[in-house]
Amino acid sequence: MKIICIGRNYSEHVRELNNELPDEPVIFMKPDSALLRNNEPFYIPDFSQDVHYECELIVRINRLGKNIEPRFANRYFDEVGLGVDFTARDLQNQLKDKGLPWEKAKAFDRSAVISSSFVAKEELTDFSSIKFQLKKNGELVQRGDSAYMLFAIDELISQVSKYFTFKIGDLIYTGTPAGVGPVAIGDRLEGFLEGKKMFDFEVK
Ligand code: ZN
Repeated sequence: MKIICIGRNYSEHVRELNNELPDEPVIFMKPDSALLRNNEPFYIPDFSQDVHYECELIVRINRLGKNIEPRFANRYFDEVGLGVDFTARDLQNQLKDKGLPWEKAKAFDRSAVISSSFVAKEELTDFSSIKFQLKKNGELVQRGDSAYMLFAIDELISQVSKYFTFKIGDLIYTGTPAGVGPVAIGDRLEGFLEGKKMFDFEVK
């Protein structure tokens, strides 16, 4: 399986990082060794002094597909989960300045937190407005709503499938809303999707 991540998909977050609004989705990938499951702790890697959380909706692909049209995209997934795209922001900025790929800052071991459970599409009352939240040490730090994505899930599936064939079990991290920030040893991160707790883990 592969992990496809979308960058710059919420305008408020694009602004907070002083990036330009994209005309098409920003796409990058993480290897399966990046996954962090079952509320296991996240260990801050020693190559960064500024690791940021980015809470994101995750779409799980359930069939093989390529060149999918947006109007058929909803046939290619049936569940939505929640995760964190951990980012070594200091390293990412260095790489961006040099025009180099982001992988070392984005795709390192355990940088992709994934909720143990997923929510079936049918259980979500309004699929075009899925609400999610991230709390750090009990305080609300990110509030997201898929209604505010620059590229909606159907559009993301279509665009990504132009370049990469989808296989069953592939994941799309759909981008983070505003409110990203650093983590420190001892922090606790809790994620909620439509009010349901999806993950709860510590930073070590
Ligand atoms: Zn992200």
